[in-house]
Amino acid sequence: MVWKETWKDIFPFSVLCLQYCLPFVAFQYWGGSSLPAKVMIISLLTISMTYSVLVIGHILVHKAWFKSNTLSRITFWMCSVTTLQSMTEYRLSHVKNHHRYNNDRSIDGAEPKDMSTTFLGTTNKHQSLLDYAVKSACSSLGSWLVAMLSVHKGWAVFNKGTKELLGKEGKTASKNKRYMQIERAIVFVHIILLVSLAPSTALVYVTVSFFLTLCLVNIQNFYEHFGALPENKYADSVSCYNKLYNFLTFNDGYHQEHHYKASTHWTKAPLIRRELDSKNQQRIVSPLPALLGMFDHERKRLEIKYPANTTTKNYK
Ligand SMILES: [Zn+2]
Repeated sequence: MVWKETWKDIFPFSVLCLQYCLPFVAFQYWGGSSLPAKVMIISLLTISMTYSVLVIGHILVHKAWFKSNTLSRITFWMCSVTTLQSMTEYRLSHVKNHHRYNNDRSIDGAEPKDMSTTFLGTTNKHQSLLDYAVKSACSSLGSWLVAMLSVHKGWAVFNKGTKELLGKEGKTASKNKRYMQIERAIVFVHIILLVSLAPSTALVYVTVSFFLTLCLVNIQNFYEHFGALPENKYADSVSCYNKLYNFLTFNDGYHQEHHYKASTHWTKAPLIRRELDSKNQQRIVSPLPALLGMFDHERKRLEIKYPANTTTKNYK
């Protein structure tokens, strides 16, 4: 048995393999195609990359699929290629930071600790969607460019946020640094390979597709937490129980369940829903997937009803 938890991980793994091949196939059709066809190709590549970050990469950074450490590292390398970013860096920022502070807001005037929080400084108000999606994407793109171009330093360039995530110097920090360097090098070689195949297509892919992906990922995170109550572990996120969406995304809609028990395998998310329902506490459930959250006009705002710095003890 090669699978660490369940054979069902063959499904996300198969999707990852297809996504790995997709740019090479898409690039074949680029040359000579009409402008509408090119727009379709770029849209397809952007959707694939976004799916790779939000769904495939997300479940991968939480739980390895394979028992073998070597196979697990290979899946990290493949997913670094399909997302154009280091999966180890993603794991550190997502698992060690985001899941620790759950999109927190300011308490007693202190700055939020979640590096990807949707709240603006100590205002306890959500940032505007445009600022959160586009400005953060520009900043991520800048850091990514610096890291990718640091070939002469062996890709060993770590900004302040990443240094914080790496923690104290030691065995674990050194190992994570090494993993990040290897994954960045693999992404770099992959980009060079794409450029050698079709320079203009590769340029559009790593600029337009990658930037749009960063924006879409930010929109998803925004609406996975918009209206939720960061201080309450039963209500710090927003779930969507649309069956088709969850079928297509390996239960990605069970976001409250995921924040409540982040180490639970994606196949078991519906069981956690039952557990949460039995607590009988108010929380936000959206009829729409988070990426379409801007159209959920009926959404309640628990963070306004229960301001920070007020007790949530009697919250029901
Ligand atoms: Zn997560």
